[in-house]
Amino acid sequence: MGSVDVTRRRFLALGGAAGAIGVAATLGHRVAAQVSNMSSPHPSADPFTLGVASGDPWADSVVLWTRLVPNPDELHDTGMDQRPREVEWQIATDPKMTTIERHGTTWALPEHAHSVHATVDGLRPGREYWYRFRIGPWVSPTGRTKTAPPPGQPIPKLDIVAASCQSWNAGYYTAHRHLANETPDAVVFLGDYLYERGIKAEDSARRIDTPIPAHLATETDTLERYRSQYAWYKCDPDLQAAHHAAPWIATWDDHEVQDNYAADVAGREMPHAEFSARRAAAYQAYWEHLPLRAHRPVGAAMTMHRRLAFGSLAEFHVLDTRQHRSDQIAGDAWQPTTPERADPNRTMLGAEQQRWLNDGLAASEATWNVVAQQVIAGRLDVDPSDRDVLNVDTWDGYPAAQQHLYDALATATNPVVLTGDLHAGYALDVRSPVDDSNAAPIAAEFAATSISSGGDGEDLSATGQHLLDANPHLHFANQRRGYLRCRLTPRHMTVDFRTVGYVTGASDAPVATTRSFVVEAGAHRIQDA
Ligand code: FE
Ligand code: CA
Repeated sequence: MGSVDVTRRRFLALGGAAGAIGVAATLGHRVAAQVSNMSSPHPSADPFTLGVASGDPWADSVVLWTRLVPNPDELHDTGMDQRPREVEWQIATDPKMTTIERHGTTWALPEHAHSVHATVDGLRPGREYWYRFRIGPWVSPTGRTKTAPPPGQPIPKLDIVAASCQSWNAGYYTAHRHLANETPDAVVFLGDYLYERGIKAEDSARRIDTPIPAHLATETDTLERYRSQYAWYKCDPDLQAAHHAAPWIATWDDHEVQDNYAADVAGREMPHAEFSARRAAAYQAYWEHLPLRAHRPVGAAMTMHRRLAFGSLAEFHVLDTRQHRSDQIAGDAWQPTTPERADPNRTMLGAEQQRWLNDGLAASEATWNVVAQQVIAGRLDVDPSDRDVLNVDTWDGYPAAQQHLYDALATATNPVVLTGDLHAGYALDVRSPVDDSNAAPIAAEFAATSISSGGDGEDLSATGQHLLDANPHLHFANQRRGYLRCRLTPRHMTVDFRTVGYVTGASDAPVATTRSFVVEAGAHRIQDA
């Protein structure tokens, strides 16, 4: 264990009392008193079982994440008591952590499940860093991250991957391992990081060689239960690899709370107060487990929409299409259109977020404006006959809001929409107005398929064929698991649909590019690469 000893010495050499006192002072008397009273007992087992993560890269700053949980398989006794713990972090310019650029300490508080969100600033733009944490004798794995390029400055390229939907039951996170090997500048995660349903060996498409803890069998409902679900998911080595490889820009969809919920309306019958409490627990647990810059939720409210800029090349407008939306019209999924759908007051983003998006898209001077969001924005009609059969959980279920979105996209330079949710890869032109099949495209949309949700899938399902038949602006439909690999340059955005042949039974499927498309700057439409 020589390397650990060296690591400890380095950490000890760099650790300083001044930092700790400074942080304690900012936490107020209660924590400061507890800190001065405690004899600094360290966790008796490795607390870094969930790995590390980084996120929301700015030009001078990034968020570093971890959570102290020695017993991730326990519901109640996770191996930490009710004391706050001080955690050291380091960020270096090399993967061996020999040239430390910044270091400091932060607090892991019991009311936040001993999660850590260290905002490190004073970093240099557009460069790779490596980081790790320490508490007592325990040193975390080392993660790679990267700051954004200098604001407003031209850069030759940006490499990102986009992914969504990782039901643990549905299969292995093979796609995450491949995605990690792409060494992207950032990972954009478009929702369904967690699924709320219980985890049982008999429902799992994975080979189960150790028993699954019994408390995971029920649907997530309490804060403790959501936390235990995150702990289970985050013990997956391939998911950890994806976090260790690059900073994430994450947003949520519905399953982090409950399937097809809409604002404060549950996805299925349940008392309002019960759903409210559940949403608050779910939001809190989400915040605790993701490398977010966002402030932790207040009750059942949390601001998720935000913007991230990569030089003058790209601006990412990250949306939240769940927290503020009107309820879906009855039926939730694919159905023939009804007049109820067209109510002009039905919203997807809520007024404040819609204004924020309008202003941001109109004001952006970036070459590419990437709207990272959850549900399909363009028209997808699944009925090749004259009748429209639409998925009313998507923007097609909210035509007034959909037109507001399109009007905002039309003001932006090179808008591209990245979408999750549907467990299939799609490439489509967004035309405005949506019902006019002769309208010109205003934006390109690419749907990342799922990491695992839906199981192995197939290249072209019956639904996929119906969609291709009914939607001439749809260029591609594929139901395999995988992710999008995107390269943005001043002249082109290239999107590769990266897929794996299977995710059930074994985690060794190779990855391949099924299809590639290109959007030329100024063209607003998709072409074959
Ligand atoms: Fe999903
Ligand atoms: Ca979804």
